[in-house]
Amino acid sequence: METRLYQKRLPSLGVYDVVVVGGGPAGIGAAVSAVQEGVSVLLIEKAGVVGGCLTIGHVSPISGDYVPNTVAEKINRRLKNGSTKLDLVHDFETAKVELTEFLEEAGVEVLLNTSVVDAIVENERIKSAVIATQKGLFSVEGKTFIDASGDAVLATFAGEEIMVGRADGLTQPVSIMFTLYGIDENQTIMCYNEVMDTPLKKGSYQTLCKQACQSGELPETVSVVRLYWNGKKGERLVNASQVNGVDGTDPKACAKAQAELRRQQKKIVNFLRNNVEGFENAQVKDSSDGIGVRETARVKGLYVITAEDLIEGKTHEDVVVHKASFAIDIHNPSGSGQAESTGLPVVPKQYDIPYRALVPLKSKNLYVAGRCISGTHRAMASYRVMNICMNVGEAAGIGAAICAKEGKAPSELPAKAVQQKLIERGVSLFD
Ligand SMILES: Cc1cc2nc3c(=O)[nH]c(=O)nc-3n(C[C@H](O)[C@H](O)[C@H](O)COP(=O)(O)OP(=O)(O)OC[C@H]3O[C@@H](n4cnc5c(N)ncnc54)[C@H](O)[C@@H]3O)c2cc1C
Repeated sequence: METRLYQKRLPSLGVYDVVVVGGGPAGIGAAVSAVQEGVSVLLIEKAGVVGGCLTIGHVSPISGDYVPNTVAEKINRRLKNGSTKLDLVHDFETAKVELTEFLEEAGVEVLLNTSVVDAIVENERIKSAVIATQKGLFSVEGKTFIDASGDAVLATFAGEEIMVGRADGLTQPVSIMFTLYGIDENQTIMCYNEVMDTPLKKGSYQTLCKQACQSGELPETVSVVRLYWNGKKGERLVNASQVNGVDGTDPKACAKAQAELRRQQKKIVNFLRNNVEGFENAQVKDSSDGIGVRETARVKGLYVITAEDLIEGKTHEDVVVHKASFAIDIHNPSGSGQAESTGLPVVPKQYDIPYRALVPLKSKNLYVAGRCISGTHRAMASYRVMNICMNVGEAAGIGAAICAKEGKAPSELPAKAVQQKLIERGVSLFD
């Protein structure tokens, strides 16, 4: 056992059956799912509001079809007023309110403005998470922990094997998404992404973007300015800025990237104002609080999901998320646009996520959920989308609750125990 200076002196903020680190899509899915199994649950979130990318990250639409009868379905319905229109960008302010209420109604206890900064580990069991608050350092004890931090923070502190980036170590770029208002809907375009093009007075939108990237009117990493409609007249969500080579867990690198992304934001707005009919008076309404980090650490688990699994639509006996579906969407780590195609990325078949990918190799009381589960760089580029992360979280929450009740390690728990609970909830796993 490692000795830490503060170990003896830390006051405890409580003991819980299940402790979830990170209140993003995966963490919310996990926390609500665990509490539904009748255990006490604490959710620890470092930001001042829950939601992760789904709120403070200004990320939308919520991609990857949600599975019927899941926590993800409930969240989607709450955020979209019952609408099943999946391509609609959700309202971030509504999401802050709805997700807060959702957790409260379920009975999840939440800590905000609280970061997990270490773990006390004994005999490969996480005894407690060390948390940093404005009142100082505390410990939180748990029977089972779920790392849904996106960055695998708890798993890293627990000494798990961490995988980073592609073969050359590079990860997907960081971005800041923002919303524009003041767009004249009578003359403007509804263009979207890498392949949907629109003719403009000055030429095709796609060509204009590429030319502006070459001439320096747009940043050299921005060859496509993706515009999504959020259902509000005169507004567009913009997904375009990009800085490569940033370690999203390094505070100095994040601060530098943030400054560069804010500069890029100005350039992108000016490009749209000067080139696109209807955008002449566009202004930034709001944007993500910090930089949007697509990829950092992935935790090696009992199974490592590969892109080949996705492409062939591999099924698994220990499936806990069935018919997951999204493109292998790799924003270019060393250039602009997509890493593996000039247009839209490869869309795999519907695939399974196996229970083993949620179970790290070492710790006897830890699950991982969300974008940091066990998979390769290419596979993660698909299952990182928010509906899939919520579904993974739901499975981890069930597993954690059962392990806490039965005193089992995730590696000892048969996947069938989680599957049975999912099926009881009405979730389809084998059709
Ligand atoms: C720019 C960008 C565009 C994207 N576009 C889309 C899209 O169009 N559609 C889509 O579905 N997905 C998109 N994604 C991907 C998606 O948003 C993420 O992969 C997904 O949100 C991951 O969910 P998560 O719960 O694992 O992590 P996150 O959403 O990152 O949530 C993790 C949470 O953990 C908290 N946390 C981290 N460390 C600690 C700590 N030490 N202590 C306590 N709390 C901590 C964070 O504050 C955060 O709230 C995009 C991502 C980015 C960055």
